[in-house]
Amino acid sequence: MTRKTVGVLALQGDVREHVLTLRQLDVDVIEVKTTAQLAEVDALVIPGGESTTISKLSEIFGMYEPVKKAIANGLPVLGTCAGLIMLGEIADPASGQKSFGGLDVTVIRNAFGNQNDSFEADLDVAGVPGLVHAAFIRAPIVDRVGNGVEVIAKLKDGRVVGVKQGKVIGISFHPEVTGETRIHQLLIDLI
Ligand code: GLN
Repeated sequence: MTRKTVGVLALQGDVREHVLTLRQLDVDVIEVKTTAQLAEVDALVIPGGESTTISKLSEIFGMYEPVKKAIANGLPVLGTCAGLIMLGEIADPASGQKSFGGLDVTVIRNAFGNQNDSFEADLDVAGVPGLVHAAFIRAPIVDRVGNGVEVIAKLKDGRVVGVKQGKVIGISFHPEVTGETRIHQLLIDLI
């Protein structure tokens, strides 16, 4: 099998952490800022950061429609935190904020409060044996889960923090900051 290329959408956010995580796996990794780079990837990570900024910059750099179209056409995608927000329907969008779509879910931004309310938790994630140590940083929750969407992670209180639909995975937390590589491997397995 030829080696696969995974891209990290590099408009804003913790691009570097995702690149370092992916480099530990058996794939080539590129940062994606242009449509030419997007065309090279077999899967894409949309990082955590600030979804309002990712939304705005994707339009400014002419990447909004191409990324939206690539996801609609079946490109495997993993969105973490702001990346999850960019894949769902946003319950509380900032003015002009648009998501790429891909997941039939509604997401509430900053559902746990501000930066000071960040926390870590050990989670069961479907498809990953054992526990996943997850960091939640100004994290969203998934408020509505559409038909055909699989819930892959929940908090102890039942709130949904991980979903998968087809080849699209969205999680509220940041595996890339806790040394966790197995969620990125799930993405690679979708290629
Ligand atoms: N609260 C941020 C947003 O709305 C997401 C935070 C994160 O990605 N860690 O985009």
